[in-house]
Amino acid sequence: MKMTRRISTLASLESAQSTSPKLNSHPPMEIISTISWMKETARQSRAENHVIGFIPTMGALHEGHLSLIRRAKAECSRVYASIFVNPIQFGPNEDLAKYPRTFEADVEKLIAAGVDVLFAPLAKEIYPPDFKTYVTIEGLSDRLEGNSRPGHFRGVATVVLKLFEIAQPHFAYFGRKDAQQVRILQQMVHDLNLNLEIIVHPIVREPDGLALSSRNAYLRPDERRAATVLNRSLVEASHQIEAGVRDALQVQSAIHKILSAEKLAHADYAEVVSADSFEPIARLGNSAAYILLAVFVGNTRLIDNLFIEPAPDSNSYVCSL
Ligand code: AMP
Repeated sequence: MKMTRRISTLASLESAQSTSPKLNSHPPMEIISTISWMKETARQSRAENHVIGFIPTMGALHEGHLSLIRRAKAECSRVYASIFVNPIQFGPNEDLAKYPRTFEADVEKLIAAGVDVLFAPLAKEIYPPDFKTYVTIEGLSDRLEGNSRPGHFRGVATVVLKLFEIAQPHFAYFGRKDAQQVRILQQMVHDLNLNLEIIVHPIVREPDGLALSSRNAYLRPDERRAATVLNRSLVEASHQIEAGVRDALQVQSAIHKILSAEKLAHADYAEVVSADSFEPIARLGNSAAYILLAVFVGNTRLIDNLFIEPAPDSNSYVCSL
């Protein structure tokens, strides 16, 4: 059967491309909405010996997403991004309906960043009525985000496995901001012998330390100011660790003190965990750890983390915000 090509184009973007020298300096970005054509495009890229870098997103793109794209551009010869607000990773009381959707602005950003292909399917393309298969990563998915958002990681792992099969990347780029998510996806790649490598990229922050997130758009001005409390508490934790504190409870209580002083914020969790198992640890030892935060600021739930690695040849740690 001959593959038919279905590409959605935006009239406004076509005219922008014909007039803007900045947009014209890149070859046109292809926007693909069907699985069949996305697979065919990936097959062609692989047949031409391209190295495919892939950045899955839910849109509402910001510098965090764009930094992943820039990294992929530097490391790969074809860069694919996807925009798909995945319904099955949202709980019944979560923000699926009001999740920010800024497709046209996103497309402009992706073109300016030099993305080759955007895969932007509809939900019914990804989940047809007869859909029945889900991916569960046991253990790692149950705690922290998994406990607060039941079914979330099953939804994430399922869609990411599908996207990997469709886009066939050699490298897939994820942010360390969603530390538990990327750990779970690495486990999936390992357990299912997937033919790609996951690249973990540092957290991109606002000048005042707030980690960039599409959900920051929900914050009122007073909540936006209060939201720096996540970063402030992690900075304090890193100072304590640099000063020699090793006891996890001591670090946690310093964090809770800062979080509870912020009236608009309340913590969902603040935990010191092993970076491998995501189980709580009592003391920092000789393997990497995370301090993971989930904090409600008003009604908006924000996450952030501090990555803690033992420094080689010393008793100290390198803390990465
Ligand atoms: P999302 O659109 O929220 O699903 O995020 C898509 C990808 O961007 C995920 O791999 C996120 O971890 C990553 N990401 C989101 N925010 C940031 C950030 N502030 N810094 C780095 N990566 C991020």
